[in-house]
Formats: sequence, C-alpha cells, structure tokens
Amino acid sequence: MMSDSKTSSPKNWRPATRLLHAGLERTEYGETSEALFLTSGFVYDNAEQAAKTFTGEISHYQYSRFANPTVAALERRLADLEGAEACVATSTGMGAVSSALLSQVKAGDRVVASRALFGSCHWIVANLLPQYGVETVFVDGGDLAAWDEAFSKPTAAVLLESPSNPMLDVLDLAAIAERAHKAGALVIVDNVFASPLYQKPLELGADVVVYSCTKHIDGQGRVLGGAVLGKEDWIKETLQPFVRNTGNALSPFNAWVMLKGLETLALRVEAMTRNAAAVADYLASAPGIVSVRYPGRKDHPQYDIAQRQMTGGGTMVAFEVEGGQDGAFAFMNALRLIAISNNLGDARSLVTHPATTTHMKIGAEERAKLGISEGAIRFSVGLEDSADLIDDLARGVAALAKG
Ligand SMILES: *Cc1c(COP(=O)(O)O)cnc(C)c1O
Repeated sequence: MMSDSKTSSPKNWRPATRLLHAGLERTEYGETSEALFLTSGFVYDNAEQAAKTFTGEISHYQYSRFANPTVAALERRLADLEGAEACVATSTGMGAVSSALLSQVKAGDRVVASRALFGSCHWIVANLLPQYGVETVFVDGGDLAAWDEAFSKPTAAVLLESPSNPMLDVLDLAAIAERAHKAGALVIVDNVFASPLYQKPLELGADVVVYSCTKHIDGQGRVLGGAVLGKEDWIKETLQPFVRNTGNALSPFNAWVMLKGLETLALRVEAMTRNAAAVADYLASAPGIVSVRYPGRKDHPQYDIAQRQMTGGGTMVAFEVEGGQDGAFAFMNALRLIAISNNLGDARSLVTHPATTTHMKIGAEERAKLGISEGAIRFSVGLEDSADLIDDLARGVAALAKG
C-alpha cells in the first residue's frame, strides 16, 4: 500500500532514528526485525471481501505487483526520511527514472534535462522519449541562461542530477526549480550521489525525487531497487497506475534487504564520506594527478552551491590522471584493494573509467561537453580504513610515474 503522512514518525526524530524506526508495522507475532512477506498473492476470507477490495471499499493486499507489506514498509521509511508525502518503490533505479518520466509526459510534450546525467538516464531522454513524440532538450546544467532559454516554451518535466555522474558537477537546484515551475514543469531530481542524508531536493523546490536504492541504500552490493518520492496526489494519480500496470514492481525480498540497508545508512554514508574527503586530499597532493573533484573541497568549481544545498560532501570522488586512457588504465590496474567496477555507493571501494565504460556509448563529442577526459577516473569510496585506501592509491600513483 502506498505510504502516506499518516504513518510518519515524530517530527523531532533525527535521520539515524528514522532509519531504524520509521514506518515499522509489526505483525501479531511482535517480531523485532521487519517481516519478509515473500508472497506473490493474498487470499480473501470470502468472495465479498475480494469484490470489496477491488472496488476500493476495503483496504486489503491484492497482488504483489500492486502492493506488498514488506515493500510498503520500505516505502514508508523512505518517505519519512525524505520528508515526502508518498513513495513508490520500483524494481531498479532506472525503473524509478523511466516511470517518473513516462507517467508524466505524452506525445507533443517537451522535456528538458541537464546534460550531465547517468548513462541510462541520458539514453531515455536522448533516444526513448523522442521515439514517443516527446521533444527533448539538453542543457549545460551550470548555465542558468541556458535553462531560461530552454524554459521559454511550456515544459512537462525536467530531469536533473546533482552532484552529477561522473564529474560531480553541482547544480543550483533551487534556481533551476524556480525557473522550471514558471514553464509549468514537474521537477524530477535524481538524488543518488548526494543520498537522502546530504541533500533534500523537495525542500529546494523539486517536485519528485528518484533513487537507485541499489547504491547507498542497499549499499552492500546485493540487490537492485529504486524509489520515486513526491506529493501524494501525483504519486497516486499519475505514477502509481503506471508502475502497477507496467509491472515495475520491487521484489519483497529486495525491499527487505534494503530495509536492513537503511538501518546502517547513516553510519555507512558518514564513514564513507570521511574516507572520501581523506582520499580527495591525498590525490590533490599526489604527483601525476591533474585534478580532483570533490564537492566537499574548496577547489570544487561549485563549492559555494554545494555548501548551500548539501550537508556533506558525499562518497564519490572524480579525478584525472596524466597520460589519458593509458595513464588511467595503468593507475587502475596497479590497485590491489580498490576493485574495478561500475557500481557505486558500495561498502567496498570501486573505481571505473567512465570514457570506456559508463559513458562509452555517448561518444567523444558528448563526453567533451561533460568534461569527461580520457584520463578521468570515478572513485566510489568505501568503508575500508582510509590509510589502506591511500596506500592502494599510492600504487596507482607509482604506476603513473613509471608510465
Ligand atoms: C545507478 C544509477 C541509476 C540507475 O539505477 P539502477 O538501480 O542501476 O537501475 C540512476 N541514476 C544514478 C545517478 C545512478 O547512479
């Protein structure tokens, strides 16, 4: 069942408390941990109850594509943490992004997006939406005049991401949302990189927040999932019928794993953020490193905006090494602790070379516009001891000197 404000927890609870207790509904057995309802369907006491469930006269679970008690517990907790009226969980993060957009727009509409988007989000805006007769426009997210120009025509939806993948550009969410609303647009913010702990897009004027729960929320490399959060009427009338009828449902098992993930979200993200700050400082002083991007460092190009709208620098660092792709490959291949993987937000530290993996398909021209150089490496900083991470990065730095 969709979560709503009636189940939200006391207003004065801090996030770490909400992550454990918000939205908990115990069964008759009084279990400590949330129950896992691994069931596809539900039975009715009699035919009348089934009929009344379908007319909506009574509230009863029908089928797990529509709603499931374990998934509902996750939705309540996520809504509570975000300060959103309602939440719908989806099978993946891309399920969340695609459902938010496709449920909102129709042929003839216009969608504006910032250019610096996660690879599959970029594909949806660039390739999929035009196939259904939706006009799409990409904007350089840091250029407010470009947003103004894009919003000179009525717009159905805006999709943006801040900090962005992979170069951690920080966009002025409040300024963009204000402009978007004048054009009539629903403002959708992909908040994966900041996590629900460090940035509250709804308070900055966004209408909808989307997550890949695969990232920090599971955060231990186990399951895929997503979530869409927003106002109750939009979720109920626009998003939910789309999700239910197109089959973009989260598995109850994955929801349960994510509930366990939420219990330690604050602990993990805060420790990973401390590590990220430490490794960013190390890299900034290391030979062979051309530049380092970390929203918590004063030398980040949008440090002032990050300070204004984020309460932490986050768990991601981007850096560029000398020697282009050869340099980046030599650096990554020299690592023994930090693994090469395109996932992120994981307890284990992971690096990826965006130009040949996550951002390979968009082509060199688009990569140049996004500032993704051949020597750029994206680093998802994990929970290891920061001294061990720095020792490992030093192996990469040494490999650059040899190259
Ligand atoms: C991973 C990611 C997604 C997609 O999430 P999946 O769970 O992999 O489908 C969308 N946006 C951002 C910013 C991401 O990092």
